[in-house]
Amino acid sequence: MSESPRTPLLDVPPEALHRVALLRDVGAGELLIHELYLSVQGESTFAGLPCVFVRTAVCDSRCHWCDTPHAFNRGERMSRAAVLAKALAFGCPLVEITGGEPLLQADVLPLMTELCDAGKTVLLETSGAHDVSAVDPRVHIIMDLKCPDSGEEHRNRWANLGALKSTDQLKFVIASRRDWDWAASAIREHALDERFTCLVSCVFTGVKPVELVGWLLESGLSRVRMQLQMHKYIWEPTKRGV
Ligand code: SF4
Repeated sequence: MSESPRTPLLDVPPEALHRVALLRDVGAGELLIHELYLSVQGESTFAGLPCVFVRTAVCDSRCHWCDTPHAFNRGERMSRAAVLAKALAFGCPLVEITGGEPLLQADVLPLMTELCDAGKTVLLETSGAHDVSAVDPRVHIIMDLKCPDSGEEHRNRWANLGALKSTDQLKFVIASRRDWDWAASAIREHALDERFTCLVSCVFTGVKPVELVGWLLESGLSRVRMQLQMHKYIWEPTKRGV
C-alpha cells in the first residue's frame, strides 16, 4: 500500500513527534480509529442530540486535564470506506469526528466530505493546533482555544480564526480564575463572541460550575455560552478528568 499524504503532520513540533509515531504505519485510504459508537452529544450547541462519534487515535498535545488519554496509544487501522460504512450504519443524522486529534490524519478530510455528501450533519472537534482551512465548509468546526492551565496555550494556531465560519464554535475549557481571565481577554481582543459561538466549560474536577457562571455574569460577556459536559453527568462522573 502506498504512503499516506502526511501534510497535517507538518504541524507537529519536533518535540511532539514521538507522540504521533503510531500513525507511521497508517497508509493512504486508512485511518487509525480508537472507537466508533452511538451516544448523546454532550457539548456544543448540538448537546443532547443522538450522535455517532468517530474517535481517531493519537494526539500530539498533552493538555493537563485531558479526558481522552486512552486514545493516545491505542487504535485500529481501518479503511476509510469501512469507517464511513460503520458510521452510516447507525442511521443517525449527526456525526462527530473527534479524538485524539483528528486533523493529524489526512484521510479525515475526505471522510468528512463523504459524510456530508451522505446527508449527515458533521461536527469536527479539534484542538486548534492544526490548520482547519482544508476542512469541508459544510462541516461545523468546534475548535478549542487552549487556556494557560492546559499547558498547551503555545500551540494555539491563531491563524485558524481567519478560516472559521460564523457557524463554527470556539471552546474554552477553564481550570482556574487565571484561565477565565485569559479567555475573557482573548474573546474581547478578537471580538470572538461577535464572530463565532463561544462556549465555556469547566474542568470537571476543578472549577465549580457555579464559580464559572459567576465569572461569566460579572464579565458582561452576554453572548458567551456556559456549557456543562452532559456526558460527564450521565456516565462516569468522577472517572475522568474533564
Ligand atoms: S487536544 Fe484534546 S485529546 Fe489532545 S491532549 Fe488536549 S484534550 Fe486531550
